[in-house]
Formats: sequence, C-alpha cells, structure tokens
Amino acid sequence: MPDYPKPHIPIDPVLDADLFGGKDPPVSSVLDVAHVRHVTSGRMAIGLALEQMDVRAGDQVLMPAYHSRSMVEPVVAIGAEPVFFRVLADGRADLDDIAGKITGRSRVLVVVNYFGFPQDLAAIRAFCDDRGLLMLEDCAHAFFGESAGKPFGSHGDYAIASSMKFFPVCDGGCLLSSRHPLHHVPLKSAGVRFELKMLVNAFEKAFAYHRLTLLSVLLSLPIRLKNRVWKLFKTFRRSTSAPLAPRASEGAFGFEKEWLDKRCSLVSRTILRNASIFRLWTARRDNYLRLQAAFAALPGCRPFYAMLPETVCPWVFPVVFDEPEAVFSRLKFAGVPIVRFGEFLWDGVDRTVCSISVDLSRRVLQFPCHQSLTTAELDWLIATARTTILSTAKTDAVA
Ligand SMILES: *Cc1c(COP(=O)(O)O)cnc(C)c1O
Repeated sequence: MPDYPKPHIPIDPVLDADLFGGKDPPVSSVLDVAHVRHVTSGRMAIGLALEQMDVRAGDQVLMPAYHSRSMVEPVVAIGAEPVFFRVLADGRADLDDIAGKITGRSRVLVVVNYFGFPQDLAAIRAFCDDRGLLMLEDCAHAFFGESAGKPFGSHGDYAIASSMKFFPVCDGGCLLSSRHPLHHVPLKSAGVRFELKMLVNAFEKAFAYHRLTLLSVLLSLPIRLKNRVWKLFKTFRRSTSAPLAPRASEGAFGFEKEWLDKRCSLVSRTILRNASIFRLWTARRDNYLRLQAAFAALPGCRPFYAMLPETVCPWVFPVVFDEPEAVFSRLKFAGVPIVRFGEFLWDGVDRTVCSISVDLSRRVLQFPCHQSLTTAELDWLIATARTTILSTAKTDAVA
C-alpha cells in the first residue's frame, strides 16, 4: 500500500470543547434498546452475540458479500462458516438469494444498516421468523436513528454497535438485545493500564488535530513524561506482556479472543453517557447535507443515496465513483481522509458470489461528516475534493 500522508483533518470524531452540551431534545439511539452491554469494540460484540445465540463450530452464518473483514473474523474464530449472500445495488439484502442459501446448518442472518441507513428491517425480521433464523442486526454504522418507529438495534434478536465510529473514543462497542437480557454476560475490567491508555489516547488524538490546545499545553509535560516511563516499562516487560489495548483501537481488522470478556473503558463509557447526542446528530446531518450539495454537480460521481431521510444520522457520506482508483489515491495524497468500506473482502468473495458487492467495495468511497469537523475543515474538505475530482476527470478525458 502506498505511503499516504496523515490526513489533514480527523477521519473520526475527536475530543473537543463542545463535547458536553446542555439539555437537548432526545434522539433515538441504540442505547434505547432494552438490554445493552458495553464492550471494547463492535467485533467483540459480534463474538458475544454469536455466543449468546449458541452458534458453534460447523454452524453457518449468513453474511452480506459487502462487508468488513472485522465482521467475519468473530464468526470464523468460533469455527462457524460464513456464507455470503448477495446485496442489491442500493445495499439492501437480497432475500431471494438468501432463501436459496439456507441449509440445515444455517443459524443466523447478519444484516448491516450501511452508513446509518436502514435495511428493510421489518421484512427481514419476518423472513427470519418464517425460516427459523436468528437475526443479528449490525448497527456499526447506525448508532443513532430509527427504522419503522423503533430505534436501530431493536429489530434483531441481537444487535451490535461500534462506539468508536460515532464518539471521540478509542475503544467501545455495544452488545444489544431488545428480546434477551444480557446482564449475565460476564465482563471484567481490562485493568488500570488499559484504562489509562484509552484516556491518554483520546486526548492525544485530539491534540494531533489541534483540539483542546490550552489543555494540551497543560498536559504536554505529563504526556512527555508518560512516553518516557512507557519506554522504560516496555523495555522491562518486553515480549511476555500482553497487548495493552485491542488492535481494533488502532483501526486494525483482527479479532483477539482475549478481549471478548473485557468491559469498555471508563473514559469511553463516560463520554458516551455525557456527550451531547443532539449536537452529534445535527452536526452529522448538517455536514452530510453540505457534502451532498457540494458533490451534486461533480463529474464521474454521485451520492450513494439520493436523499437523507429524517430518521437517519449518517456515519459517513458515501459517494459512487465511475473510475475510483485514480481519484482514491489522489485524494489520499491530498490528505483527505477517506474510508472505503469493504475494501478488503473475505477470501473467496468475488464476482461469482456477488458482482454488485465487488463493485461497491471498489467504487463507493466515503467522506467523513462527523460532528468534530469544524466549518473550516469541512470547507477545506469540499474544496480539496472538488479540485481533485475535477482535475482527475480532466486527466482521464485527455488520456
Ligand atoms: C466497523 C464495523 C464493525 C466492527 O466494529 P469495530 O468496533 O471496529 O470492531 C462491524 N460491522 C461493520 C459493518 C463495521 O463497519
């Protein structure tokens, strides 16, 4: 992979001074689901949900061919077999294809509310009930919002969410169920060093993007000191020590079983409990709508969704490109933070399985619309994306 520069603006939410708002009107979120447990990542929540559903080695789990590897790892880790079904061009699960893939070993159907937009959850619920499948609702992109009058996460037998995609935290995922209590799921603290690391990392991420500058000055000494102590510490502990934080915290895909029974860090839970979710909701929607307006007239690309429904709080702004490759790397080199969901599909998921998924994984690029972007950063993002896309289109026309 090319050596892209550090993004010029934050790709994910970062801590800032406006984090804790006043009293705001409530908005729907997965935290409204009856039973909620906070773990260290969305993928750990998937692992625990599979355990709760008693999925075992040899069972089959039906999963969308348009996916992230981190969703598949927990399935494979317990020895179950992922069976990939097709999605339609708009990302909806292809129920006809699923029907043809059900066997005596099929136990669970996983559906993803991509980018914060709902699947046809009532129809999928009925489908699962008819066929004796359990439904796992993946709300990693849909922490906020609702579908058919119910918050995301309440349609599945179990559901999961990823706090890291919506809040300025370095760990966090939710195991959810509207049907089954979860209090018996054993979770324990990952220890003081983990708690400290999650706290320090959240601040460091903010400092890296010039947030909380006064505080950063005040804390700069302790952090430098911390780095020294850390180095010393590592020298002594070296290879025997277990990793301090799951790799999910650094954006890696892997699934580390030893994090399955660990509780979300205190700092992340505190931020989740106290952040102004109304501000988060409105900022994400406003940013999305600004991006949508700015991209409307650009050549060779179009928003993945024609409109933003009232009940959706987007994770990102997804755009379909006719020729994604050149523009993807140019945008990355320009420092524009881009996500390409599904960039690395599970081995064997190719055009014979689902050509639409292969296309989506290549052609849909996502721009950040999170609440921590300042007006100046969004202006920069739009201007840089515009220039890059226009100049790439011109080069293509000449070539
Ligand atoms: C990110 C993601 C996950 C995993 O969430 P983590 O918190 O990163 O472990 C699961 N499903 C989907 C669709 C995702 O995009």
